[in-house]
Amino acid sequence: MAKVQANSDFDIVRLDQVKVSQYFGCNTFSERTMKERLSKDSYKAFKSALKKGEHLSSDVAHAVATAMKDWAMEHGATHFTHWFLPMTGATAEKHDAFISWDEPGQVVERFSGTMLIQGEPDASSFPSGGLRATFEARGYTAWDPTSPAFLMEGPLGITLCIPTAFIGYHGEALDQKVPLMRSMDVVSKAAVTALQLLGTKATHVVAQCGPEQEYFLVDADLAKQRPDLLFANRTLQGARPPKGQELEDHYFGSIQARVLGFMQESELECFKLGIPAKTRHNEVAPNQFEIAPIYEAANIASDHNQLLMEILKSVGERHGLAVLLHEKPFAGVNGSGKHVNWSLSTDEGQNLLEPGHTPEQNLQFLYFLAATLKGIHRHGDLMRATIAFAGNDHRLGANEAPPAIMSVFLGQQVNRVLDAIEAGEDIVSRAKESLGIANFMTIEKDATDRNRTSPFAFTGNKFEFRAVGSSQAIAMPLTVINAVVAEALNELNEKLEQELKSGKDLKAAVQEVVRAAVVETKAIRFEGNGYSEEWKREAAKRGLPHAKDTVQALAIWEQEKVQEVFTKPGILTAEELEARTHIRHEQYQKALGIEAQVLREMAETQLLPSITADLGARAGALAKLASVGLDVPESLKSALQVQTHLAGVAQDRIEELRKQLAIAESVESLHARTVVFGHQVRQAQDDLRDVLDTLEESCDADLWPVPKYREMLAPLT
Ligand code: ADP
Ligand code: MG
Repeated sequence: MAKVQANSDFDIVRLDQVKVSQYFGCNTFSERTMKERLSKDSYKAFKSALKKGEHLSSDVAHAVATAMKDWAMEHGATHFTHWFLPMTGATAEKHDAFISWDEPGQVVERFSGTMLIQGEPDASSFPSGGLRATFEARGYTAWDPTSPAFLMEGPLGITLCIPTAFIGYHGEALDQKVPLMRSMDVVSKAAVTALQLLGTKATHVVAQCGPEQEYFLVDADLAKQRPDLLFANRTLQGARPPKGQELEDHYFGSIQARVLGFMQESELECFKLGIPAKTRHNEVAPNQFEIAPIYEAANIASDHNQLLMEILKSVGERHGLAVLLHEKPFAGVNGSGKHVNWSLSTDEGQNLLEPGHTPEQNLQFLYFLAATLKGIHRHGDLMRATIAFAGNDHRLGANEAPPAIMSVFLGQQVNRVLDAIEAGEDIVSRAKESLGIANFMTIEKDATDRNRTSPFAFTGNKFEFRAVGSSQAIAMPLTVINAVVAEALNELNEKLEQELKSGKDLKAAVQEVVRAAVVETKAIRFEGNGYSEEWKREAAKRGLPHAKDTVQALAIWEQEKVQEVFTKPGILTAEELEARTHIRHEQYQKALGIEAQVLREMAETQLLPSITADLGARAGALAKLASVGLDVPESLKSALQVQTHLAGVAQDRIEELRKQLAIAESVESLHARTVVFGHQVRQAQDDLRDVLDTLEESCDADLWPVPKYREMLAPLT
């Protein structure tokens, strides 16, 4: 039975003897712990600064840092690290021990609070998109008091991890957290202004997120034998198994004991770190699963999702399982996404995307709904761009995942209401008669029908951005949603103010503003099958942008309206945005380059040698049959001839891939290089895979040098 780390309330305990609520967050420096350890004044000042989103005074920061250090050391921490989220989307940490020299030869644990607050990691080799070259070489990590520090258990000790922002000398954002926090501020301000106009009191509005994480599990012994899984996180070759997901008997099926054990230990680790893991189940594809937490403030959800991905991988290792977070680990089998559920809530906990109980609340709901529609309508292409990267290209637009065209699904009831608004009906007072539903105020969460083919769906009290990739950091997608909705809210706020100034009463003014937005954004609303060819044609007619792949989507970042949505409210400066675009290009090229290299090497050093050995063995066997006077049937010879020919094709395609890779790598310009990788290199790689997959189907299975799909996708027992 797994053990729970000791904390102040209890000693080592057995999992089946305690409730989760008793140890939830025991490895975090939580508000409760702070309350216990800080003076009343310090704690009050800390809470109030946090609530208002203000900076901490240095006295308070120091007091918190000291208490944090003491707490960590009492729990056996020997090291600390500033934990941050560089622009690559992975997490980064550099550990320092608490020790220093007391007198020569004498070591003591000594550590000042200020060192917890700011660090200067020598992190110059993180990609900075040229950003740091323009300013100053150094990057600094600065403590983020909104995200609780936590203890990371290692095999032989404990490390205090302090969530930090990573910034340049002049405050440039070098990470994904800073823009997310800025976007949360920006959308909060816009929403508070809206609420003031609408007559609701609120000092602060929080963007909230619950990310559903999909992943595959593969037996680690099998995964280790596949260089593609080790280096590219997906299979680059593999003939389709005879039984894939066509029976769909895996989805929501009973969870095998081995997998359940892995899930339970992952959840235990989550709970200790204060990650509210809530849902677990089998997904559509064989050996595909999902874990979903309860929603939290977007920045915390982002930190927690990064941690969750780490936890899954490390717990997987302990269970002999490789956790595949890639969007498309297996061709021909459903890929994995991360559904980013998003909403806005007041500091009092009122969800602004939840239809209310009074006409006033519903006006407010419609206003925020209209703003969201407006943001997505204006920036559908940016939404597309934020989820564009090499891994997601294999998933989006294929017959399984949301299409690469951005649209919004609202469900019948809400659509009916919007149609009535468009027709100029007074929906608030005449809901009953005009809408044919009992009462507009009873739009219910469960009434929204499901449409799993929509990339952005309203699900009763939140929106669900379904096109996000499973391996992707959610910080940037969240930043984009916040940014585009904030921009739309600000526009609506201005209009509403004008309407009010012109003498309209609040209800009439809001209806007018909402009506204009509903009319303007009609093209983005789509309730039908997003996977169909018909929708592609219809979307083109509506003028909706359709960037088919990353190569096309990367250009979107350079549009003026995209620049403005970040730069105007100060979410990203032009330079910070440019750096991120640069990194997106680099990462795309790197991913494709690695894949091409790995496949070429696998093909040349593992697959083709096995294929030719098989051909040789068969030819030898036929010769042997002939040598004892047997009549070797033509069909056997011609099958061998076909295989030999295909092996030659494979060899030619290896050469072609090598050639295209060399060409791509020699292209100077960043943009042109992306195109060559995305077109020529990818084509050459696909062509090579095709012929290898065909060859695999008739190669002696005993000679096949790497685990096959049917082994990797077999039930995990
Ligand atoms: P489904 O698969 O039906 O969409 P799940 O329960 O798997 O539902 O996931 C729903 C996710 O949405 C959870 O992470 C949940 O916490 C999150 N969520 C629920 N309400 C909100 C909200 N108001 N804002 C953001 N996320 C939310
Ligand atoms: Mg969902």
